[in-house]
Amino acid sequence: MIRLCPLRSGSQGNAVLVFTENTKLLIDCGISGKAVMSALDDIGIEPESLNAVLVTHEHIDHCRGIGILSRKLDIPIYANNGTWYGIETSPSLKLGKLREDNIKIFPTGKEFEIGDIGIKSFEIPHDANEPVGYSFRYGSEKVAVATDMGKIQESVYDEIKESSVILLESNYDLNMLDIGGYPISLKRRIKSDIGHLCNDMAGELASRLVRSGTKQIVLGHLSGENNHPSVAFQTVKSILEGDGIVLDTDMRLSVASRTETGAVYSA
Ligand SMILES: [Zn+2]
Ligand SMILES: [Zn+2]
Repeated sequence: MIRLCPLRSGSQGNAVLVFTENTKLLIDCGISGKAVMSALDDIGIEPESLNAVLVTHEHIDHCRGIGILSRKLDIPIYANNGTWYGIETSPSLKLGKLREDNIKIFPTGKEFEIGDIGIKSFEIPHDANEPVGYSFRYGSEKVAVATDMGKIQESVYDEIKESSVILLESNYDLNMLDIGGYPISLKRRIKSDIGHLCNDMAGELASRLVRSGTKQIVLGHLSGENNHPSVAFQTVKSILEGDGIVLDTDMRLSVASRTETGAVYSA
């Protein structure tokens, strides 16, 4: 069985564990080494059992702890060329020195395996060099991570549909962003096609995904300023119900925590 656990998910820092009995993959490490160790401890996973870190893109909320984790556990970091370039040239990221063997490059879209998990990256609409989401296969089971997306993109839908569990971005409530204190330029960036997904768009995409077979949607990457877990949940819930989907019968909807270790979801 393949499982997914959002160790942390939000604009302040992201780290998601995808794992089977024998393989443990960390998707992003935008929190400190210490925080990730303690989150792994919360769900009874030995940090030493981690096989690799896979990076979605070079923003600090996804990369803050990758260098320290790679050095501490001597594990490889996987990213595409554009993301590596972004990581290495970012003025705010202090990656530190990595062992050459621990720098792994994959071409976006090419499938590969780590342990018994099949991995496929796919392009997402976001303002980074070569940002990706991921889907993971174990036998006939599939789970996916899709956050940091400015719009609903058909190619993303095609990549993540038929996953039983999806961590899906639900970054902001449009009204909270509009009336909130962010500078106009930042508001514009968040709302743009290469910014973040709002609760309404997450609901629309979630509804399509559930109708094509997804059983569990975990809303994630919530903004601390422009969203609230109950607002995201209620907005998406009412869109799903408007489309005739019955929660807890047809599917389960939940929200990943920005500050605490999330639940473990099984495919
Ligand atoms: Zn980002
Ligand atoms: Zn992010």
